[in-house]
Amino acid sequence: MNQINIIKYENKSFLPVIGLEVHVQLNTKTKMFCSCAVEYGQQSNKNICPVCTGQPGVLPVLNKKAVELAIRSAIALNCKIHQESIFARKNYYYPDLPKNYQISQYEQPVATDGYVEIELENKNKKKVFIHRMHLEEDAGKLLHSIGKEELDYSLVDYNRTGTPLMEIVTEPCLFSVDEVTEYLSTLRNILRYIGVSDCDMEKGTFRCDANVSVSTNNEIFNLVEQEKIIPIKLLGTKTELKNMNSFKAIKEALLYEIERHMKNIILGEKIVQETRLWNETAERTESMRSKEEAHDYRYFPEPDLLPLIIEKEWIEEIKENIAELPNKKKERFVLVYSLSDYDANVLVSEQDLANFFEKTVLELKKDINEKIDLKTIAKNVCNIITTEFLGRLNAENKTISEFIVSNKKISHTHIAQLTKLLLEGTISSKLLKQIFDQMWQSGDMPLSIVEKNGLVQISDSKELEVLVDEVINENPKIVQDYKSGKQQAIGSLIGSAMKKTKGKANPKLLTEIFKKKLS
Ligand SMILES: [Zn+2]
Repeated sequence: MNQINIIKYENKSFLPVIGLEVHVQLNTKTKMFCSCAVEYGQQSNKNICPVCTGQPGVLPVLNKKAVELAIRSAIALNCKIHQESIFARKNYYYPDLPKNYQISQYEQPVATDGYVEIELENKNKKKVFIHRMHLEEDAGKLLHSIGKEELDYSLVDYNRTGTPLMEIVTEPCLFSVDEVTEYLSTLRNILRYIGVSDCDMEKGTFRCDANVSVSTNNEIFNLVEQEKIIPIKLLGTKTELKNMNSFKAIKEALLYEIERHMKNIILGEKIVQETRLWNETAERTESMRSKEEAHDYRYFPEPDLLPLIIEKEWIEEIKENIAELPNKKKERFVLVYSLSDYDANVLVSEQDLANFFEKTVLELKKDINEKIDLKTIAKNVCNIITTEFLGRLNAENKTISEFIVSNKKISHTHIAQLTKLLLEGTISSKLLKQIFDQMWQSGDMPLSIVEKNGLVQISDSKELEVLVDEVINENPKIVQDYKSGKQQAIGSLIGSAMKKTKGKANPKLLTEIFKKKLS
């Protein structure tokens, strides 16, 4: 049974129903139907040719890599892959579309009927159903300003024209804004793991449009509870939202639009089926065109391309070579390294982070006292990575992938050695942060930092006993407190001892000696 989030608004019950269309730019070197390069930030109209600018007499040639990436995605998204699919022309006139049609897929897409499993806040799992996935080419870009200067004419850049895209369409099966953002981040992570796209919303390689309606219908509430797909005819009038360029924009646009629908229903006003644009500055959605003004795309099969035939053997070959998906990696981390669900989730949230963790653990495993088990190694590496390492990345506003590309000073070998020093008792946990700081600044190996600064932990019990006697003699009042039953007073004694050794005393041993001497 699905737990559904009915919204109470002015004493009425509402359920938002959302379906998403996600456009993903496929990670190919060249365009969909010609050999022009796909490059971001290139000089305008540099990567163009007669094919992608629609000159007479040219013929499109399908990019095999784009098809391979679509198949890889279809496998990862649990879709049914169709061995035969058809390219179609979608006809419309717009200055950024030099052919006056876009080559897409219409009636027979490359894949259908998939799902993505998402984890909701209450830890429940939910399947988000994928209706279809198809291949198409991107349009160009219009420029209406240069820098801050608004133009009274427009410029066109065809570099993006013909770039391979994959469109992934869900069923109307998302019922809250949280479900939408969870689906999008799960989808993005999967596609990044399998190397299909960098899925960067800022660069426009991951774009999302949303179909929104709001239901007051009990029949729909029941269907949703039973986890059934809602027939389109039962849904309220939908609006299509476009121009959402970040997760924040998607969230705000949906919240605004859902409330607008609910208000209209309460006021008895008709909701118009239309396309609306999110205006980020004004923080509202605005009508772009109504159903009456909608394009009639006059789709027909693309006469210049044969049907796309995908051999079973090719699908099998791609399946065998596909990267481990985030949810599988998480399960493995929990099983093999005995990590908690929470830790495993943090680590697999980015493939580079997960790989960094695992490389560190495996390197350390080869080179550490064999009495220390894998679980302890993994737990400590995970702690250092998620607190010290990620903490500093966040402070510098960097992702792990950017760090790996830009930072040549620190590698997983540093983290492995630091964890080894801690686990073998060479350094105390008190000094870990300080050593990490120095390592982060200089790129020096932790062992050389420890040796250079004399930070080796004092674990010699004779030496510590002398120290403990000294602290006891200097603090008669606190000793008295402890002896009269104030257990926590020992903390302040340990603190003084630590201060005297500049954090180098072995805290575990120190505590034992204090307890022994004071009992
Ligand atoms: Zn071209």
